[in-house]
Amino acid sequence: MTAVSFYDTKPYDREYLLHAAAPEDAAANWHFHEFRLTAETAATAAGSRAVCVFVNDRLDRECLRKLADVGVRHVALRCAGFNQVDLPAARELGVAVTRVPAYSPHAVAEHTVALLMALNRKIHRAHNRVREFNFSLAGLVGFDLHGKTVGIVGTGKIGRCTAQIFRGFGCEVIAYDPFPQNEWANENKVAYAAFEDLLARSDILSLHLPLTPETNHLLNAGTLGRMKRGAYLVNTSRGRLVDTHALIQILKTDHLGGVALDVYEEEEGIFFEDHSSHGLQDDELSRLISFPNVLITSHQAFLTHEALTEIARVTVANLQAGPSGAWLDGTLLT
Ligand code: NAD
Repeated sequence: MTAVSFYDTKPYDREYLLHAAAPEDAAANWHFHEFRLTAETAATAAGSRAVCVFVNDRLDRECLRKLADVGVRHVALRCAGFNQVDLPAARELGVAVTRVPAYSPHAVAEHTVALLMALNRKIHRAHNRVREFNFSLAGLVGFDLHGKTVGIVGTGKIGRCTAQIFRGFGCEVIAYDPFPQNEWANENKVAYAAFEDLLARSDILSLHLPLTPETNHLLNAGTLGRMKRGAYLVNTSRGRLVDTHALIQILKTDHLGGVALDVYEEEEGIFFEDHSSHGLQDDELSRLISFPNVLITSHQAFLTHEALTEIARVTVANLQAGPSGAWLDGTLLT
């Protein structure tokens, strides 16, 4: 295999990637970095034909040009989303970009529901109390999911799984997607509706759409204000779908019942790292964390054994195919 530089890697990434590869290839040719790939760090790819990156690396035009200058011909994303790569620039520079289009939609869908359940039934707060031998139930009242209306924005792989889980709870599920899956919706008793209807009717609104220039800040002061009073918002997709400043303002008014986030618009450089000994520099994230009805995880919805195994399998197959260009079906972006 050709030489590869891996960025933003953690012990679990290395473990699964090495397991998916021939050990002798990996040991000789793979360079694992803990820091992220940006224009500032791109020179460290010198000597590699491929780089392997994750959600918070930043492959803008300048970074890609520097990569091409040092001989990189392949960017292998070990994730599904690709908003962190300037694809037109990659195309112009002759750099192939591959991704892992689907690994385990169940991992993300199940985490979405886990976050909502924990927030609604206040499991995180109850756990902290019990550890201090405080068995009081005051302030821990939740609501039944059964019979509630859930709005799913984006009925792709993850949105459909999430919708089906909520159907299993006995929820009414309504959905918005510019490309509706009518057969699936009929089979699962999911009703498509306009986005504005989802805002007005959903007790729980869950985001499962990609980040694009059009969907940036889809949830802003206006749309957040049109959500049903007391509704819960769940975002396990991409941070920039939600305007954080507007979210904080609306949380201050008590208009929303709760907010569960696995992603945050300024998560780059914060999520995946331990900041416990030097504090948090990001005031908006600190403010969000301070609300009792906000629950945040650090982009961990994908983190299951099954998802990591599949991500590693597809990524390694693409890295091995690199020189011949025989990428796995559906993985090549440009
Ligand atoms: P997908 O491509 O299968 O589905 C996306 C759906 O969104 C499509 O049906 C598309 O038509 C729809 N869509 C596009 N624009 C829309 C709009 N304006 N309004 C409503 N729907 C719109 O993608 P997926 O695999 O289901 O992933 C969904 C999201 O989850 C992506 O943002 C991805 O980046 C994110 N994700 C997060 C994690 C995590 O660990 N938190 C892991 C994997 C994926």
